[in-house]
Formats: sequence, structure tokens, C-alpha cells
Amino acid sequence: MRTEAAALPVERTEGCRIHLADGRVLIDGIASWWTACHGYNHPHIRAEVARQLDIMPHVMLAGLTHAPAENLARRLARLLPGDLDHVFFSDSGSVAVEIALKMALQYWINRGATGRRQFVGFKAAYHGDTLGAMAVSDAEEGMHRAFARALPPQHLLDLPRDAASLAALDDDFLNANAGSLAGMIVEPLVQGAGGMIFHDAAVLRRLRDLADRHGLLLIFDEIFTGFGRTGRMFAMEEAGVVPDILTLSKALTGGTLALAATVANRKVFGAFLADEPSAALMHGPTFMGNPLACAAANASLDLFEREPRLEQVAAIERQLARELETCRALPGVKDVRVKGAIGVVELARLDDVEELRRRFVAADAWIRPFGRVVYLTPSFTIAPDELTQLTDAIRRVLAG
Ligand code: PMP
Repeated sequence: MRTEAAALPVERTEGCRIHLADGRVLIDGIASWWTACHGYNHPHIRAEVARQLDIMPHVMLAGLTHAPAENLARRLARLLPGDLDHVFFSDSGSVAVEIALKMALQYWINRGATGRRQFVGFKAAYHGDTLGAMAVSDAEEGMHRAFARALPPQHLLDLPRDAASLAALDDDFLNANAGSLAGMIVEPLVQGAGGMIFHDAAVLRRLRDLADRHGLLLIFDEIFTGFGRTGRMFAMEEAGVVPDILTLSKALTGGTLALAATVANRKVFGAFLADEPSAALMHGPTFMGNPLACAAANASLDLFEREPRLEQVAAIERQLARELETCRALPGVKDVRVKGAIGVVELARLDDVEELRRRFVAADAWIRPFGRVVYLTPSFTIAPDELTQLTDAIRRVLAG
């Protein structure tokens, strides 16, 4: 608490701009942790949330149901590939991951396979800050290191990027351990908070194949990548594979209200469709399916239908690739990479992250480097000249 820089008071947000209380205006490069995909204060989302506020801000979603949650579940099931048809709402990404893990564990319990209690996660993964989510994340990446020995042990392995890592996972590890595993969890295409590390679609196809051959459930965490961020509506579409369980949050409400979803396919749902009440998934977050949040999410899906978001992402990808490329020659820059509306400049080392953050604010840019990466994940509605101001700020600040 002594070392953290003082937070900047914000008065209001608008479009891709953050208005500070002292009169300065920052161009937002990260869309409030990758959530505000339509920009801030979109009139359609505000209107739909206001309409819902008049009718019913909240009612519990147990024994009772309501149109905003029902419509949203139906729309998500229609939008998602394959038979990802069964939607369980919660209120944050980490909780959606906890629910996914519990669903996978109980899938096996309900089927009488009580020994399948562990998960495979991957190096550099990040799935949230709660205990179960931390246990399948890479503690070495920093945020969770202090807790590593207090967490239920899981298997953190190399992603099968090439023949050698595939053989290590398949022949060495899964052949020996599959019988004690409930499933595997991965962030498709981009590992976000673990360092903005990309992998290609072939990795996901290999994981689907391994899960099928060794009889494991496959969980995709699209909390960061979902809703257009990597160029398709969902990252998994690029690989043409469908997981058994999927987690969504962040841009689900266009970044306006807290909401998350854990979506199961028919096979997983089928293991809970039983005559004994003990087969039920006993998880009931108080604010699950909050009507205001569901109204915001439905309005956000309207905007994906009515406005050319994926074309905007493609244009952002082209502009980021063009403008960030010039950073490659700067001293200390190790890599420049772009995927959809994600632009990353990776440094060889970053000793004083707070100083770098201060210099971005001085350049009127809201950019928050972490680890060794400086990254942009702007709103999809950002204007080309605003995006250029952000890439200029990165080039100028890194040039010293
Ligand atoms: N999974 C992924 C891939 C994430 O990026 C995050 C958040 N950065 C989470 C899970 C956790 O979400 P939340 O912060 O809403 O708990």
C-alpha cells in the first residue's frame, strides 16, 4: 500500500476518452481491462439499462426467472458454435471459471468416476484471482506466486505448440495420468494477463483431439478473447473447434456491468439431467443473472448485430500492425505482435513499470504496461486518429 501510485480521479467517460477530475482527457488504450468494446456510455446500452431499471433492477434467479436472462441465454446459445447451449450466469470472470471447474469435477462424480479430480492448465495461463482459478493459472507469472503452495495442486504444462511439446503432453503425461484428470483449460489464441502471448489455431485443434482421445473435458476461457477481440466473434471459431465448457465475461455487457456466463455443451448438461437432486450443480451466486446486467448484455449483442464491429476490428488490426511495426527498431524492444484488436510491444526487460505508466499519462494516453509488455486493447469504435495518438505515445515513450 505504500508503493502503489495514487489513483487518478475520473469525472466521466465518453467514447474512447477518460475525463479526469483535473481537466485532463486521456485516450483509452485498454478499454477498462478489455471490456468497453463499443466505447464508453453507448446510448443504446444506457437506454436499455435505464428501461430495465424502471421495471426491475434485480430479482433472484432461483425458483424465479425473467425475460432479460432467458433472452440472453437463448441468444448466446444461438451465437455460439456447436452445441454450447446451456448457460449458467454469474457475476465475474473468476467465478465463471470456478463454476466451469466445478461443472467438470461434478460431471465425473455424477458419472461415478470419482478419481478424476485434477486439471491440466498451461504455462503463462491466467484464469482469475479466486483460489480454484489461481490453481490452474501460472503462478510464476507473478500475481499469484505468494499463494502457490496453498492451492490445490494442478498440472501446469507447455502448450502443444510443436511436435516435441505435443509428444510430451500426449505420450508422456496424458498416457500416464488421464485417469486422474477431469479436464484441460486454456485461453484460446491469446494468453492475456499472463503476458499477451499468442498461439495458432492448430494448438486448439490438438487440444480438442487430445481431450477426445484421452476422454477429458475441454474448457475454453474466452473471458478476454470473446466478443470480437481476436477478429472473430469468438477466438475458437478460427480453429473450428468447440469446447465442452466455455467461460465468458468482460465484453459480455459491453463493459458496463458485472456479468459472466459458463456455457456447457449437451454432453456436460446431460450428466446433470438426473432423477436424484444430488446430481444438481449446487452453485448459486446471489446476483446471478442480474436483470440490469442481462439488459446491458442483450443491448451489446444488438450492437454486434447492427454495427460493423468485426470490420472495425479488422481495420484496427491493420492499423496496429502498420503503426506498431516502427517500434521494432527501438532499443529494448524484443517483439511486436498484433492479433485482432490487440497490439503488443514486448520489451527485453521492464524495471520501472510505474514510471512508464506515468509517462503514458503525461502523453494523455491511458496505457498500463505489465510484466514486460506494453499493449493496446482499445474499444472497437476508436477513431483512426485516436488510435494513432496511442501508437505515437508508445513510440515516443519507448524511444525515451
Ligand atoms: N479469465 C481470463 C482469460 C481473464 O483475462 C480474466 C480477467 N483478466 C479472468 C478470467 C478473471 O475475470 P475477473 O477479473 O472478471 O474475475
